[in-house]
Amino acid sequence: MSENAASMTDEDGIKRRGLMLVLSSPSGAGKSSIARNLLADDFGMELSVSVTTRQRRGSEIDGRHYNFISERQFMKMRDNDELLEWAEVHGNYYGTPREPVELAMHEGRDMLFDIDWQGAEQLDSKMRSDVVSVFVLPPSMAELKDRLHRRAEDDEAVIEKRLLNAAEEIEHWHDYDFIIVNHDLAKAYSEVRSIVVAERLRRTRRPGMFDFIQGLIGK
Ligand code: 5GP
Repeated sequence: MSENAASMTDEDGIKRRGLMLVLSSPSGAGKSSIARNLLADDFGMELSVSVTTRQRRGSEIDGRHYNFISERQFMKMRDNDELLEWAEVHGNYYGTPREPVELAMHEGRDMLFDIDWQGAEQLDSKMRSDVVSVFVLPPSMAELKDRLHRRAEDDEAVIEKRLLNAAEEIEHWHDYDFIIVNHDLAKAYSEVRSIVVAERLRRTRRPGMFDFIQGLIGK
């Protein structure tokens, strides 16, 4: 097993539960880059692929970044209770399919959720003990605007809408377990990794510790 791989047993050979790493931020604060790095590295983290009714951007792959579905399909999933959480963000619907998450938690695998504060709130109220939530802040609103322009993926009207929503999103910072200010991507990324490393060691996530201790002290 690789150093950080998540599985039914951790690197100490002790059985542990999976964790749900929730990453939120206003668009452009760097959350997606942090998420991309976490998934690219051998860090035992899988992405929860959301469904959305938003138009696919040029750089996005259907089934990998999102499952792009119609509003009708979305409402059907929602009404059939197939979504663990859902929200309307910037005029589009987004939701987390329930089944892959329940399976991952059951199998002790860690999952990453790139979702907004409304989704974070819903996951938190349903699965508090499994959730570790991190809010990523931009260093300033001017830098956020610059980043959205540099990204050049949305037209001006969409960027304006996202900026207007940013302040409102930031007001939910206090609902999160950890807050990171993304001055520098490498540093922010390393901070998120440190959080995950520590959370994987949390006593309450390691049900196998009881047996380990018994073996250790022979009682
Ligand atoms: P974007 O359109 O830029 O990909 O995402 C817009 C916002 O929707 C981001 O803040 C993103 O985190 C959030 N989002 C993406 N998927 C989900 C989801 O399944 N549920 C919720 N609540 N928010 C989501």
